Amino acid sequence: MINEILSKYVKFIDCEGWKEALKYPDWYIKEPVATDLKKFNGDVFFRLNFYNLIKELLCDNLIALDREGPTFFHEREIEREITNIVIHHTKTEPEISKEYLSVMGFLNVYVAEYSRCHNSLHRLFYGKPICSGHFDKNNKQIFYNYHWIIRPDGSRERLLQDHQIGLHAGNKAVNRTSIAICFAGDYSNSPPAFSAIESAARIIKQYSNIKNIIGHCEAREGTDCPGNWWNSSTLRGKLIALATLCK
Ligand SMILES: [Zn+2]
Repeated sequence: MINEILSKYVKFIDCEGWKEALKYPDWYIKEPVATDLKKFNGDVFFRLNFYNLIKELLCDNLIALDREGPTFFHEREIEREITNIVIHHTKTEPEISKEYLSVMGFLNVYVAEYSRCHNSLHRLFYGKPICSGHFDKNNKQIFYNYHWIIRPDGSRERLLQDHQIGLHAGNKAVNRTSIAICFAGDYSNSPPAFSAIESAARIIKQYSNIKNIIGHCEAREGTDCPGNWWNSSTLRGKLIALATLCK
């Protein structure tokens, strides 16, 4: 099975090297995987193939994961107070599946975090098998970091449960106290549809202690998520007004 999957990506990876690395829980810091992981973000074509490769490997349980933890937020999930809403966009096509979002979270967040060893927290996890501690209904480990995803027609889907902390904001204090709402689509240069804005407002209304509704870019410098509309369009004001009206 592993040979079959890896051979599909022979143009992008050293199949034998990957096969050897994947035998170990610290596969992501072993060569040639570690070098491929560093370069996959640079080139769109390579990135898409890379996502598909990881998706297939995860799907067939060919990547060693830990199911028990500890995780980055193990002890803090027991009781948390939700006071912030953070707005995101997927910066992908709007039809993106939950499974694909999970692969993106796995690579962009979990693998990235486990590969760093610059402080004592990271040294604790460096080289360990990856674990989110979050599971779906089928007991499959999930790695997406949003609580809700909203499609352009306004339909919404639950991702993480409220008590679960998502590594979505790039800011630990914000992650601990927030719910992440994500618009499916790329809204870098145009705003989400009004039906999607209304849907987000309806979600926010369900939470009674919200003090701030912020864009991802306000929690972390250097990102333009959820897109330029957040700072330039009146839709931001409409979203906040709708969400806080008649509470
Ligand atoms: Zn974001």
